[in-house]
Amino acid sequence: MKRIFFTFIGVVAMISGLWVYLDQRDNNAQARQESQKLRVVTTNSILEDMVRNVGGDRIALYSIVKRGTDPHEYEPKPTDITATSEADVIFHNGLNLETGGSGWFKKLVETSHKQFGKQVFAASAGVTPQHLTTNTKEVDPHAWLDLANGVQYVKTITKQLQQKDPDNAAYYQKNADRYIAKLEQLHRTAQTKFVAIPESQRLLVTSEGAFKYFSKAYHVTSAYIWEINTESQGTPEQMKAVLAQIRQSEVKHVFVETSVSPKSMEKVAKETGLSIYSKIFTDSLAAEGKQGDTYYDMMKWNLDKIYAGLTTDQS
Ligand SMILES: [Zn+2]
Repeated sequence: MKRIFFTFIGVVAMISGLWVYLDQRDNNAQARQESQKLRVVTTNSILEDMVRNVGGDRIALYSIVKRGTDPHEYEPKPTDITATSEADVIFHNGLNLETGGSGWFKKLVETSHKQFGKQVFAASAGVTPQHLTTNTKEVDPHAWLDLANGVQYVKTITKQLQQKDPDNAAYYQKNADRYIAKLEQLHRTAQTKFVAIPESQRLLVTSEGAFKYFSKAYHVTSAYIWEINTESQGTPEQMKAVLAQIRQSEVKHVFVETSVSPKSMEKVAKETGLSIYSKIFTDSLAAEGKQGDTYYDMMKWNLDKIYAGLTTDQS
């Protein structure tokens, strides 16, 4: 009897041992699979979402500037430096976006011992740049606000992922094709959306002048308090200029971006008697799970809200 009992205990121990072993082996395999994935870093949430759409679950993705905050000016954290050092490929916007704080991104690349053109690529490569009005030597970074440029970003991202990880090239291509078709559809709809609005009302007023590319693509004139987030924001001269522009128009509402302080725009609203119609997205996506948490959704949100704000009378 005793012997049977001990044999039984032995078998149970063996089975549970085997169970633990198999479980461990599964975990190890999973960890190994995870560590074999292409490690990708992006500077901001818009690029993060584009890369996720192409790379799916075949890549390990880390994004630096958190949602709702400004990617022009940033102070990298130790975790950012670790992720960048370990990355196989790093995407930044380029076009003078990540240049605040005397070039925070360039410094991060140097600290992480990476090289532009080797592991570090501008997602905006191939886009025709527009120049700042106040400083014509500098380019304007906000190219993604024209969906046709967004498609060019996705093509550049896809090409780099395929070069770094040829085993998954077909998978990345399939994802990119499907994603690009969706973006192009929204772009086509947007191109005809605003032209019916009388020109005197077709003025998009925001804090930062982020809508140059958007204006050109979708035929809406843009007005702003300051041109780019890296300059001083809301000086008396800047306020005077934008107020004059608003008073010359018949615009119905103004807007404020999610990644800047609303203070200056609230002042503009008070001075002109126009209300802020809605928040819109420029340099950052919404928090995950909220409306506007993908590039497609942020563009759709902007297009819908801007149209409504320009055509609805003040309540
Ligand atoms: Zn900006």
